[in-house]
Amino acid sequence: MVSYASAMLDELMGRNRNSDPNEKPKDLNWADTEVCKYHLCSFCPHELFTNTRADLGLCNKIHDDELARNYRKSSKFMKMGYEEEFLFYLESLVSEVDRRIKRGHARLALNAAHQAQQLQGITDAQDERIKQLTIKINEAIEKVESLGCEGKVEEAQQLMKQCDQMKEERRLLEEFKTNYAIKPLNLNNSHKEMEVCPICGAFLVVGDAIQRVEEHLQGKQHLGYARVRETIENLRVSKLSC
Ligand SMILES: [Zn+2]
Ligand SMILES: [Zn+2]
Repeated sequence: MVSYASAMLDELMGRNRNSDPNEKPKDLNWADTEVCKYHLCSFCPHELFTNTRADLGLCNKIHDDELARNYRKSSKFMKMGYEEEFLFYLESLVSEVDRRIKRGHARLALNAAHQAQQLQGITDAQDERIKQLTIKINEAIEKVESLGCEGKVEEAQQLMKQCDQMKEERRLLEEFKTNYAIKPLNLNNSHKEMEVCPICGAFLVVGDAIQRVEEHLQGKQHLGYARVRETIENLRVSKLSC
């Protein structure tokens, strides 16, 4: 197992940094165990997601383009089972992110249900209040009439004023209800409609600014998973044509 520091030094100073200068560096062959077989096939997935949430950690094997070229030129190319292993690893990465995407969808659905429930609670309470107001308004109108008949003008006027206040409250409640029936998702101003990226599983804001959409599409995590998915397709096709 090569440590992170040691791998960093290899990268900075070359992997023969510790060898005796008089000694010839070991002639590496692409088949050697210390050579990364993913890199021979195409690329090493460990290099895709560095410093992102999906970081796979450092690969402790050697990535050498010359060895990769030698492998591809050799008569053993595609006959070592490396591509199958590579495909298997890529598929495991995709099934992991697909599980994350599924969980993301479930979370969004739960949020939507919760919100609908909250909204329902509010409209139920409003309906109840509107019903009570209507009863009180009707009672008040009847009473105003009988007060009028009895000549109690001042009392009737007082009650009429209360009646108008109740009517105004009812009007506002009805207005509020119609507005939210049209746009229930804007119940909370800070709420933005979300979706899950079908490639990398990140949460995205629906209808977000073009610049932010672009940033996401050019981000390491999204590009990494796009490359993994594309490579899987290509490997499957080349396997079929073999
Ligand atoms: Zn590697
Ligand atoms: Zn994405």
